Amino acid sequence: MMDVLAPFDADERRAVSPVICYPTVTLPQPDMALYTAARSELTEVAQIRIPPREANAIDVPAGHFLRIHSVEGSQVGDLNLFNRHDLGERFYSGKTRALHGTHVTMGDRLWSSFPNLRPMATVTHDTLAWYGIDDFGGSVHDVIGTRCDPYTGHLLSGDHYHHCCHSNLTRALADHTNMPIKEAEPHIHDVLNVFMCTGFTRDTGQYFMKASPVRPGDYIEFFAEIDLLAVLSACPGGDCSTVHSSDAAECFPLDIQVLAPKLGSLQEWVPPQVSGYDRSHGR
Ligand SMILES: [Zn+2]
Repeated sequence: MMDVLAPFDADERRAVSPVICYPTVTLPQPDMALYTAARSELTEVAQIRIPPREANAIDVPAGHFLRIHSVEGSQVGDLNLFNRHDLGERFYSGKTRALHGTHVTMGDRLWSSFPNLRPMATVTHDTLAWYGIDDFGGSVHDVIGTRCDPYTGHLLSGDHYHHCCHSNLTRALADHTNMPIKEAEPHIHDVLNVFMCTGFTRDTGQYFMKASPVRPGDYIEFFAEIDLLAVLSACPGGDCSTVHSSDAAECFPLDIQVLAPKLGSLQEWVPPQVSGYDRSHGR
């Protein structure tokens, strides 16, 4: 690397305190008491299993709960979310990260793409909420990774591996919507990395992963704020302690459950509106 001389006041400039980019004081807060009441009595209405190194899709009606369960072994999942009636409105991991931070847990929301920018889902329970941020700067359920994909895999290894989350999600969306695979692929987007433990190294700023702390019996639960199509891949990285983008890691299934709320508990619930921005962009 070229030598670049530091200015005389380099330490002073580094010592400036950071400012939070998006102060959340004006961010509309979810009514967690309402969700707590709604989830006090849940009835299962659907369940699917995601086989290892595969993906599967399920519809989740607005006002219902979506639970992703760890079963059989420590396994990471890559989640895509769509508005069930408009695939153009989809989960926006970058904006979710900007609003809530690098990892999500109870009370955080999964936001949708422009021009809608509204909460698609709210995290209502997370059995890994105890994890916090570890000494490496790692935490669980990240919105900093992308999704493992065969293009990056090919770039780095020359392989043609077909069970990366990107491909799994593409096949599952194509099957669920009866869409040709090439038409389905552009709808696949950056994911919520469910149960994945990740961070950035402090010295080099590199994206790292480590063995997920998830164990069978753990789950993360979301309240569907709009009618959702959820597509989940059981990552070929397994617990993501070693490698991904290959068949090398031990992998386990994941289960998804759709649960109806307690009867009459959502009378006060106000479904989220799309963004009120006038979209004139100054013209
Ligand atoms: Zn993956």
